[in-house]
Amino acid sequence: MTSPADDDGLDLTTRIARDLIRFDTSNFGEGRSNGETEAAEYLAAHLERLGLTVQSFDTAPRRTSIVTRVPGRDSSKPALVVHGHTDVVPAIAEDWSVDPFGGVVKDGMLWGRGAVDMKNMDAMIVSSLDRILGSGRQPERDLVIAFFADEENGGVFGSHPLVTEHPELFAGATEAISEVGGYSIDLDGNRAYLVQTGEKALLWLKLVARGTAGHGSQINRDNAVTRLARAVAAVGSREWPVHLTATTTQLLDRVAELLGKDAQTLSPDEIAIATGTASRFISATLRTTTNPTGLTAGYKHNVIPDRAEAMLDVRVLPGHEEAVMAEIRELVGDDIEIVVSHQDIGLETTFDGALVEQMIDSLQRHDPGAEVLPYLLSGGTDNKALSLLGIRGFGFAPLQLPPALDFPAMFHGVDERVPLSALGFGTDVLTDLLLRY
Ligand SMILES: [Zn+2]
Repeated sequence: MTSPADDDGLDLTTRIARDLIRFDTSNFGEGRSNGETEAAEYLAAHLERLGLTVQSFDTAPRRTSIVTRVPGRDSSKPALVVHGHTDVVPAIAEDWSVDPFGGVVKDGMLWGRGAVDMKNMDAMIVSSLDRILGSGRQPERDLVIAFFADEENGGVFGSHPLVTEHPELFAGATEAISEVGGYSIDLDGNRAYLVQTGEKALLWLKLVARGTAGHGSQINRDNAVTRLARAVAAVGSREWPVHLTATTTQLLDRVAELLGKDAQTLSPDEIAIATGTASRFISATLRTTTNPTGLTAGYKHNVIPDRAEAMLDVRVLPGHEEAVMAEIRELVGDDIEIVVSHQDIGLETTFDGALVEQMIDSLQRHDPGAEVLPYLLSGGTDNKALSLLGIRGFGFAPLQLPPALDFPAMFHGVDERVPLSALGFGTDVLTDLLLRY
């Protein structure tokens, strides 16, 4: 059994999160990755020390996901999937004030790529199991613990093949919890925790313009770069209208109330902005977004290329997929080819039921009087893949955060870091939930 603290004086959660950060599992997208194998083996070793049998799946060389089942006290209850991903987005070391893969602990925080997305939660999951199983106890219901590869690339080499090729791993499971939810925000002195109950759909598009190649000094009215630039500007500057879903309606009404504002006189955007740093997460869930994220064309200053390409990151409100695609086609025009590089579904579930009640109760036991609110995620998680098996997913990686920390900026951001106290709080809440739900 692992001891609660080692000679660094760090608790188990911090130590596991730190060790995981030191495995550079950078995922560059489209199948290019450093691989997750060492991180997965490290987590598997912890789980095996707790007496669990871990299954390992390599969906491509070095793209390792692991799954284990933890028997609960009452196996007649549907199983709960508790999942994390072990890959991270890349980090440009010179932009950071610490080594992004050093697992540095300073100023009461753990710094590094993955500190919030999501090696923190990976560590909280293992640490909670260590507390429960290590003290001879059991979770209330069966748990399916999964650590997936490739989440930052939409789960192509992780959750998706596991769900389609090995659905038996998740047999009997009806609900799941994972990242990007359960963290606290400050609403005018009120601490509120946002539980993620939905995700926007994801559409990664490539726009391809073709034209006639030629000398850069000559007249060319069939220039692929000009054609592409017009299309990119049209989509990138499109102001998509606000559409409130059931989740965002519920969130904004309660946020307005907590801020002492009248939801009838303020626009949804004004309410979102009034949340401060959390608006970074909330504003983007009020509408579809279509952000150009890359351009590729040309190879020499005086040569007009015959092809130009742009990448678009499109995040669509659940249910708006077809209408948005049709509008993008219209905006870019007939002479632009649209290639779908990757797409995934939107999700939205209701903020009710026994699991939601238990999440609220576990948070409030450790933070009495705290508000707990539903929200829609502008990004996506492996809950999309699990939903294909009928599993209802939530974002619940509990963290109690200081009001001054711009937490949404930590995701994929520079100097990603998490307070050690938040890791301790999260482990307490998660342990409580797993023991009692
Ligand atoms: Zn993540």
